[in-house]
Amino acid sequence: MNALEYVPVPAFEDNYIWLVSDGRYAVVVDPGEAAPVHAYLAKRGWQLSAILLTHHHADHVGGVADLLKGQVVPVYGPAGEAIAHLTRRLKRGDRVSIAAPALDFTVLDVPGHTSGHIAYFQTADSRGTPHVFCGDTLFACGCGRLFEGTAAQMLESLDALAALPGATEVHCAHEYTLSNIRFALACDPQNHALQTWRDEATALRARQVPTLPTTIAHERAVNPFLRANDPAIQATLAEQLHESVPDRLTAFTLMREWKNRFR
Ligand code: ZN
Ligand code: FE
Repeated sequence: MNALEYVPVPAFEDNYIWLVSDGRYAVVVDPGEAAPVHAYLAKRGWQLSAILLTHHHADHVGGVADLLKGQVVPVYGPAGEAIAHLTRRLKRGDRVSIAAPALDFTVLDVPGHTSGHIAYFQTADSRGTPHVFCGDTLFACGCGRLFEGTAAQMLESLDALAALPGATEVHCAHEYTLSNIRFALACDPQNHALQTWRDEATALRARQVPTLPTTIAHERAVNPFLRANDPAIQATLAEQLHESVPDRLTAFTLMREWKNRFR
């Protein structure tokens, strides 16, 4: 099997539209707009073979109709959301098998950002590395806003992602890393791995290099939303927000609300 290539194609202000290719065929994840996808496919001479969608927001599905013009490719997406053009509606535990590029995914339900949000987990590529496409659920050093779900749902969704193998490469849909790190440091100022990551990520962005993919092991170490159980984070939240923090759901809820107004 040829090694697969995983490419973040920049779109809008800060979206990434991920392409996975075997050098001839490519699948696209969350094409919020078609033009950058068409341009990249043309540049590499790749042919689109499937579209995967994680949730219904326009910056993730807006390019689907245009990509379908003049070609028939399957469109996978969440069973629980109203999205045009879906040919297969997916829920927790469903399998997606694509012939070219050769890709097998297991579907995870990860509600919270939207109520039907799904993620696509690939157990192993040809090198044995797992991959997950998680849309707007988990970001490098952050998590999605709660537009349709509760904090408890999002925490459970993040738990499911955090339980994936540590080596899993995490393909998030936005370049939010630097602003997420600034907030993470407010929650977890003594975290050395986080301080190191701030310096590395800052250097990457200075050269306009994507900070993604991240990995599950790295996120467990630096992402405060996966560390709501950490006593140091809970103590910081209690002190900064003048709240009592009796448990991890409270810590998570307070962090998510604080992040919404953090500048
Ligand atoms: Zn979204
Ligand atoms: Fe988005």
